[in-house]
Amino acid sequence: MDSSSSSSLIFCQLDKEFSKEISSLLKPPSSKQVQEYFDELVKTRQCNGLKIKNNGNYGKGVYAESDFNEGELVLKDQMLVGAQHSSNKVDCLVCSYCFRFIGSIELQIGRKLYLQDLGVSARMECATESSDEEDNSLTADHDDFGQCSSSNSKKKVPLPRETIESVMNGDVELPYSKQFPLPSAVSCPGGCEEAYYCSKICAEADWEFFHSLLCTGKCLGTPSREALLKFIQHADGTNDIFYLAAKAISSTILRYRKSKAAQVQDKGKHNEVSGNDNSDFSLLLEAWKPISMGYKRRWWDCVALPDDVDYRDEASFREQIRELAFESLQLLKEAIFDKECAPLFSLEIYGHIIGMFELNNLDLVVASPVEDYFLYIDDLQNEKKERAERITRPFLDALGDEYSICCQGSAFFPLQSCMNHSCHPNAKAFKREEDRDGQATIIAVRSIGKEEEITISYIDEDLPFKERQALLADYGFKCSCCKCLEEKS
Ligand SMILES: [Zn+2]
Ligand SMILES: [Zn+2]
Ligand SMILES: [Zn+2]
Repeated sequence: MDSSSSSSLIFCQLDKEFSKEISSLLKPPSSKQVQEYFDELVKTRQCNGLKIKNNGNYGKGVYAESDFNEGELVLKDQMLVGAQHSSNKVDCLVCSYCFRFIGSIELQIGRKLYLQDLGVSARMECATESSDEEDNSLTADHDDFGQCSSSNSKKKVPLPRETIESVMNGDVELPYSKQFPLPSAVSCPGGCEEAYYCSKICAEADWEFFHSLLCTGKCLGTPSREALLKFIQHADGTNDIFYLAAKAISSTILRYRKSKAAQVQDKGKHNEVSGNDNSDFSLLLEAWKPISMGYKRRWWDCVALPDDVDYRDEASFREQIRELAFESLQLLKEAIFDKECAPLFSLEIYGHIIGMFELNNLDLVVASPVEDYFLYIDDLQNEKKERAERITRPFLDALGDEYSICCQGSAFFPLQSCMNHSCHPNAKAFKREEDRDGQATIIAVRSIGKEEEITISYIDEDLPFKERQALLADYGFKCSCCKCLEEKS
């Protein structure tokens, strides 16, 4: 990519044509709109008593409306948009809507070994490692897998292909796997063989809210389908964040179409003459509302400068990022452009959506039942264990250290993203045994009193003061929590 010299070549026609609409879309919502939106949202979530308040200069914050004990669930937050990392798709088969593991223990193990055997994993790793140098930085948020991380210390002992296939296809049953039942996989109604679901309900919801525009099955029609495949390939090879942005756009278009259809029907009933064009834009604004609530800046302006980029090259680095976004947007436009929602396809809006994910992006993590399964086998006694392990040991050896990789992705959680940071937080994101899907779960780490602000730590709060401040600078603020104030002096 030729960076600095081409900066003037990129020009998005839609930015100019729809500048008025774009600034309406990007106008921060009023305090009243924010309050109404979040009051409504809190009602639909599983939480004992929370309130979102706009606290002046610091923006939004989440406050307790009742007391919480240590360890108590503070909030379960359903994501607005989320996606599994493309490289993680080899490791786990999960519902494309709720991210629960699906199929069976045998399918999870067999499928992973099968794909591993085909070299899919290796190919994907190459794709993210070898392409342009900026990739290190663009995929930087992939390395904070925390508890899920796995090193390649143990050597894998491969199994014969027939053994792998017979487990994957369910011809062979592994001992005690029935103790870990998983919902059977439901195919995508569009027939894409990319998306699978834990239930018909999830399949229908995903279709309604996101997937009907992004399905690569036959339903799309050939030219769009090919364009969409190109878009996905580009996102897989560069940055998953583009796919999240596509889902955000797709859901906005689908919400718009739904309210438009309802309006047309309504007008028909009242026998009105179809009105002016402005009414359509107000519908688009309404459909955009959930995304308008998230704090956002242009991606290329807000992305942190990676360590290996010299500050003197900052301008060309940011221009490269902008070009990459433009490239991705062109592919998406070819696939799903909708004239009535044209402003959504401007580079300005695309950049802001991606920026919103960059700034608020939260880890989507679901623990693997395969890990539980092998732990269960390991806990068996005497002959039972011996008999079971005779069968399971070769699979464990073939999987190596990576047997317990969890589902990993990124998601935007509307309420969690309103929670402010503290280096001495009173809550944390924590999945309990029963939390088996992609929702965010926030637990109190000490007792929280009514009216107290609920805070989580965006970083490892045990790091020294200086390191914490440096990491938090990437989030665009200087922390002045009680701990920082104390350690500063
Ligand atoms: Zn599901
Ligand atoms: Zn599909
Ligand atoms: Zn602090």
